[in-house]
Parts: sequence; C-alpha cells; structure tokens
Amino acid sequence: MAGKPVFIGSEEIERLVRDSELVPVLERALANFSSEDGGGVVQPIRSTVPVAKYKGFLGVMPAYSAEDDALVTKIVRFYQTTSSSASSHHATVLLFDPSNGVLKAVMDGAEITERRTAAVSAIATKYLKRQNLDVLCILGAGPEAVSHYRIFTQMFPFKQVKVWSRTRERVEKFVRTVQGPVQVCTSAKEAVLGADVVITVTMAMEPILCGEWVKPGAHVNAVGACRPDWRELDDVLMKSAVLYVDSREAAVRESGDVILSGAEIFAELGEVVKGTKPAVNERTTVFKSLGMAIEDTVTAKLVYDCWELKNKPKSKHKQTAEVD
Ligand code: NDP
Repeated sequence: MAGKPVFIGSEEIERLVRDSELVPVLERALANFSSEDGGGVVQPIRSTVPVAKYKGFLGVMPAYSAEDDALVTKIVRFYQTTSSSASSHHATVLLFDPSNGVLKAVMDGAEITERRTAAVSAIATKYLKRQNLDVLCILGAGPEAVSHYRIFTQMFPFKQVKVWSRTRERVEKFVRTVQGPVQVCTSAKEAVLGADVVITVTMAMEPILCGEWVKPGAHVNAVGACRPDWRELDDVLMKSAVLYVDSREAAVRESGDVILSGAEIFAELGEVVKGTKPAVNERTTVFKSLGMAIEDTVTAKLVYDCWELKNKPKSKHKQTAEVD
C-alpha cells in the first residue's frame, strides 16, 4: 500500500538544498528542454484560469523529466494586491512516483519558485554578462527580489546593489530581509543608470524599464509581466537588445513584452547552455523569463532526494551496533 505523502515546508527546503547544487541541475534541465529531440522533457504549456472578480489567476504547471525520472505538477495562484505585506504569489508543488502515479510529497511551492527563478536568472547572467560586473540593479522588492539578491551577491562579485520599488514600506522590508549592503533609489531611472545587470521583478502592467536608461552592453533579466498584455520593458529596449527566452513557445503566447513589442527572439537560454546558439556578450542582452514547469520539477526532485537521504532509516547493522 502507498505510504502517506510527506510535507516539506519552506524552511526545510531552504536548509536541504544549496544554490550551488541547484544551479547545475537547472542548467541540465534547460539544455534538455531546448534539445532538438526534446531531451526527455514532457512539458505542456501552462494552463491559466483568470479569476477576474478578484484580479487573480490560477495556473497549473505539470512536467516529466526522463533523465531525473521526476513527475511533478505545480499549482500557482497569483493575485494583484495593494498590500506591501502580502505576497502576490502562492504555490504548491506535488511530486509523484512516476512508476505508478502515487503522490509522494507536497512541498511549499513559493520557496521552490523563488529559488529556481532566481537561479535561472543567475544562469542567464553567467552566460550573457559582459566582462565587468560592478553594479547590480533590482527593480521591485518582493520575495523574488530577495531571492535574486541572495544568489546574485553569492555568485557574482558586484561592488554595489541598487534597488527601487514604488513604495517605501516595501523597500524597507526588503532591506531588513536581505541584511546586506543596498543603495535604495528614489526612481527606477536612478537605479538603472550605470548598472551592468538589471533585474525586473515587479507586478507592473506597463513598462517600468526604459531602454534609454540601460548601459550599452548591460544584461537584463526580465522576470515579471507573465501575461500577454502586461509589460515591464519598453519597445526601445525590447527591439535594440539581443533577446533570449526560456521557452519560445511560451514567450510568443504569454509574454506581453515579446508579443506587444514584436521583438525577435534570438535563442532559448537552454540553447546557449547546450552550445547550439551563441551568447552575444558584446551587445545589450535581455533574458525574458516566464518560468517553466521543468524548472519546478527538477528542483522538487532535488529537494525530495535530499530529504530522503536525511530521513532514510538507519541500516539494521548500524542500529544493532548502536544497541550493543
Ligand atoms: P510581489 O507581488 O511580492 O512583488 C511585486 C513588486 O512589484 C513589489 O516591489 C511592488 O512594489 C511592485 N509592483 C506591484 N505592482 C506594480 C506596478 N503596477 N508597477 C510597478 N511596480 C509594481 O511579487 P514577487 O516578488 O513574488 O514576484 C515578482 C514578479 O515576478 C511578478 O510579476 C511575478 O509574476 C514574477 N514571477 C516570475 C517568475 C518566473 O519564473 N519568471 C516566477 C515567479 C514570479 P510596491 O509594493 O512598492 O508597489
């Protein structure tokens, strides 16, 4: 008979998996996803149900990775909120035994989403950055801004981090949470000027990042605006930069920045990781991230494997030795 599924909460996920373990797992998944033969990844485009009455959306994101033998679905809810304390996103991840479909684990999906999204932006930056990485700019100050701050300051040698959000309370909360050096800016323009890497992690529906502010050759990770009529980046930036996406299929269906600007997609990030498309480091680059179910799948599998290792019953031999 199937055992009861385990629950793995956010704090435990944080303790179990380090970013240094997660990054190579995600790089492999991105490369598999963008392989000509599909790399053993089965991932339908996400289904999203608008809940117009409450300005919300419910999304379902299933995927299977043959290489990891991992079968997962994420259920994500995102609601436009006016409160600085409430997060706009909630998620639950379900991990199944792929051999029989039995549910093995339920996990905090917000933690998994924040960690994998920031790690994928860091991978894009690793491949698409120019030589010098002195100044990082983060537009937005919610949970995604925090997870991006953490991995970017660990992985890259930035000398300065500038952050901007519309409200003071939100930025103050961000500064208290990250407990690291940050320069708070009073406008998005002030934060962007001179930055080598810009990250947009807002719930904006209109552009908050203008191409004319962006330093030539900088790299931009555009993480918000996951609806076909939402924008974070203006047309100047979208049309002048070399554009990378996580999934071409999703970008032309879900990204307002891509659809409404008419910008041409140069490559998927996984193609760059795999080496089938180049990283154009001498020009301004944009990585438009929408988030993929396969990223949740391999992250959840890594979390579960680490959990299992930690909670594995001790061998009979060892137990006997301890009793003796
Ligand atoms: P939060 O809602 O917690 O934070 C949102 C931030 O956006 C806050 O700084 C808020 O500022 C700002 N904001 C809200 N509305 C606007 C607006 N109209 N114009 C400008 N700024 C605004 O979100 P998260 O940190 O959880 O997520 C950030 C973004 O990342 C979202 O768009 C989300 O959909 C996206 N996302 C993308 C993923 C991916 O894989 N690509 C995965 C998960 C999330 P203030 O409160 O000061 O107004």
